[in-house]
Amino acid sequence: MPELPEVEITARRLDAALRGATIESTLAPGINALKTFDPPLSALEGSAITSIHRRGKQFVIEFGGGLALLVHLMSAGRLQLYDKRAGPRDRTSRLLLRIADPDHPLRELRLREFGTKQAAWVKLLPADAVDDEELIATLGPEAWPQPPDDLRARLKAPRPLHTMLRDQRVIAGIGRSWVDEILWTARLSPFKRGDDLSDEEALALREAIATVLDGAIEHYERVIALPIPDKLPLPLQVHRKGGELCPRCGATIEQVHYEDYVMCYCPAEQTQGKVLKDRRLSRLLK
Ligand SMILES: [Zn+2]
Repeated sequence: MPELPEVEITARRLDAALRGATIESTLAPGINALKTFDPPLSALEGSAITSIHRRGKQFVIEFGGGLALLVHLMSAGRLQLYDKRAGPRDRTSRLLLRIADPDHPLRELRLREFGTKQAAWVKLLPADAVDDEELIATLGPEAWPQPPDDLRARLKAPRPLHTMLRDQRVIAGIGRSWVDEILWTARLSPFKRGDDLSDEEALALREAIATVLDGAIEHYERVIALPIPDKLPLPLQVHRKGGELCPRCGATIEQVHYEDYVMCYCPAEQTQGKVLKDRRLSRLLK
């Protein structure tokens, strides 16, 4: 699932390639993906892209003429640029923005989605209405480049850090992959409650958020070029590494299975050696 670093690098690459480009035509083959009909998608035809940037884990594509497209990839979406048009039977196509560019006559910005679920969506709206969209209006402060100064206060609740850091209303941009990396870097238990953080722990957590997200974005700056690959090479140390050895201390990385994802942590450094694989028991472990 694309999180802040993945969306950030994609927005940078797309912005560099498309700023100033004019939309020739639009198509929404994934009919459910388009959440708005007024203004219609065709209102973009003939207008130029003025900026592609990120808000939390969402993209905002702005156009001359005052419109903006808010793009939410959900868990399996990708925003990709191709110099070839999607075939009519490409089942991953959700939204196609065809670009008028004499140097790249078949250029197309494509919202694609993998898997059977159709969850990714877009909304076309006046650019000045983006901030009022519920999804954007309820976002907490961005996790990067500066994690919020009041992080400790924001986390003061009897909920586990692993849950709170992924709550976009608390802090924006972190999801299932990077939360594991951040908590491992800060040597904090994923089960620790937000309101149990000491001053030092809160400081370590804030530093870890900055370090981990900086590191991921720097990594992508070195290795990612257009076209953005379907699967980004996430520079992970613990997430998806259950059963492997912790690269810092050599203990075995443990994992807790949830319905649709896996949490990974180093028991030696994060949970005082305690290993709990069952999520009901995990609640007891702080
Ligand atoms: Zn370790």
